[in-house]
Amino acid sequence: MRPKIVFSDFDGTLTLGESLSPILFDIFEILQKNNIKLVPVSGRSISWGHFFLTHFPIDTVIMEGGGVIGYHNSKGLIDHEFLIDDQEIGRLEGMAMEVRKEFRGLALTADSVGRITDRAIELSVLSELGVKSEVEKFWDKHGVSHSCSNVHMNFWCGEFSKIKAINYYLNKFEDGVKLEECMFFGDSLNDESVFKGMPYTVGVSNISVVLNQLQHKPKVILEGPDNAGPRGVLNHLSNVLK
Ligand SMILES: [Mg+2]
Repeated sequence: MRPKIVFSDFDGTLTLGESLSPILFDIFEILQKNNIKLVPVSGRSISWGHFFLTHFPIDTVIMEGGGVIGYHNSKGLIDHEFLIDDQEIGRLEGMAMEVRKEFRGLALTADSVGRITDRAIELSVLSELGVKSEVEKFWDKHGVSHSCSNVHMNFWCGEFSKIKAINYYLNKFEDGVKLEECMFFGDSLNDESVFKGMPYTVGVSNISVVLNQLQHKPKVILEGPDNAGPRGVLNHLSNVLK
């Protein structure tokens, strides 16, 4: 199927491990040639989203795991739509303080200063302190949502997810484009809501690391080192857009 819009996770999917690779620019090129929009759907902060909107050929981003949509408005300026209300944003601020009181030495990610609708903790910090499952229990006890990307444990108050944000975006910004006319690429646990809710999803081959932890798997699962991260995205798009 030739997609009308390509949605994609960023870390591990459009990046090769932790590196930006030149392949990303080949992906931009093939999509631009085919007049197909790319919308990153990432757990990274909205501040990262500003970078994408400013420096890449991208006009919309879904960031913070689906908590916020960033886009160029009709004047060409960057604008936002937050998908949770101010009350939940305020509760999150309080919970971010509480967790640090409860777990001594636990710091939030440096990019948490640029986050509005969620906060994050480095997975490496959680494993160093050996408190990952205790922190998860703490969130569950306080009714705080959480999920893990390749690099972070993200947490937030209120209801949002990558798939909810994609549906919201299609309804509000892409009048007439249906979910089944789109494609999604991902590689991690925080992509599961999309694997569950969207018909055409593709897992790049490095998803193999978390595949057995996913209840809902992508429709297409790429295999082999030549299909890791952006290589898999480019190969799959090249096949589909032949
Ligand atoms: Mg990822």
